[in-house]
Amino acid sequence: MERFLVRSKPPTTSAETAENPPPKEKRKKTVSRQYHESYLSYGFSWTGDVNNPQPECVVCREKLANANMVPSKLKRHLETKHPFHVQRNLAFFKRARDLNQRQQDHLLDCVKVSEKAMEASYMLAELIAKRFSSAKKWKAILREKKYSG
Ligand SMILES: [Zn+2]
Repeated sequence: MERFLVRSKPPTTSAETAENPPPKEKRKKTVSRQYHESYLSYGFSWTGDVNNPQPECVVCREKLANANMVPSKLKRHLETKHPFHVQRNLAFFKRARDLNQRQQDHLLDCVKVSEKAMEASYMLAELIAKRFSSAKKWKAILREKKYSG
């Protein structure tokens, strides 16, 4: 509401002259561009935050800034960096996007540690911390646990 009110100018100081105007209020205009399914025809999917998505090339996986989420810039990326794929149809880009997603899911499955293994690791670390302090004794308890079961 305050920004609609007209205010009188504050009194200027002697340092503020025509050569040194007072600093203006800096307002950053942030516009979050949203992804549209038609951008896939330019070879782009999206990644990141839902409210501030980043366009991601399905061919080279390059992530662009949100400001580039416009057809002209996406098309320019495709034409300049992947001229061979300009004539590709939508099915090609869908397959590429799905392949990238499957690879990402597979990678997450490979690096995920089961909860039981994680719990056992914590229990062992706690046991070591409580009972032993030197590295020589750590090795002894590890050897003991390994052979006992
Ligand atoms: Zn690319």
